[in-house]
Amino acid sequence: MLIDTHCHLDFPQFDNDRETVIQRAKDNQIDYLINVGSSIESSFRARDLAEKFDNIFFSFGLHPHYADKFDKDTLNSTKDAGKLEDLLKSKKLVAIGEVGLDYYRNLSEKEKQKQVFREFIGLAKRLNLPLVIHCRESQSDTYGILHDELKNFSRIVFHCFSGPEDFLDKCLEQNAMFSFAANITYPKAVKLKELAKKIPWEKIMLETDSPFLAPQKFRGQRNEPSYVHFVAQELALIKNVTLQEISDITTQNAKRFFKLDEN
Ligand SMILES: [Zn+2]
Ligand SMILES: [Zn+2]
Repeated sequence: MLIDTHCHLDFPQFDNDRETVIQRAKDNQIDYLINVGSSIESSFRARDLAEKFDNIFFSFGLHPHYADKFDKDTLNSTKDAGKLEDLLKSKKLVAIGEVGLDYYRNLSEKEKQKQVFREFIGLAKRLNLPLVIHCRESQSDTYGILHDELKNFSRIVFHCFSGPEDFLDKCLEQNAMFSFAANITYPKAVKLKELAKKIPWEKIMLETDSPFLAPQKFRGQRNEPSYVHFVAQELALIKNVTLQEISDITTQNAKRFFKLDEN
């Protein structure tokens, strides 16, 4: 059994065969999927999917790319407040995110990204939910804000973790979790494999970030949750353990972190 802790099945890339993809994940012993929300609309679609399929959970987030489109009142606006309240009460809601800072593509202004990030951290605290963090070329500011807002990082996962090492060390000290995607299967990911080796077992989870980041074997094509096997296989090689061991431990970690069995 495996859990894909981060996928985007609500994206249009799955419009033609969404149910087939979900079934294929089941057939490949991917027991649970977490459909991560990346905008307000995407989070609503994620909620609808989670309510339709037993094995799907969801999160409510706003990707830093879309921070510019967010106004402070969106969370409280009269028009959507009721609907949003509804979404936030869903039993299938297991996290806030993805939220964070992306200075690689910088599609939204930095100050706005930071403001939205803090807003959502506040929401996670109010709802007592864990946070799924997107951090790209923004390690210093991401760390600063998280450190400012939270006592420690025990309820944070850095998704699609990519380093670097000094950032990893600081976040490990704060007790964070790290999830790995299939970019770890790429031949050039030498440094990333070294970092994965260093992270204690109980801090690791698996994801696909599908439809993005297909494993080496399918590179350039659409990714999907059943390919989370490739991430598990690569980590088993890196950590020199069996596939069974990696499956057991990462599944336990994800269940504990997202409290999946309580939902
Ligand atoms: Zn992301
Ligand atoms: Zn994502």
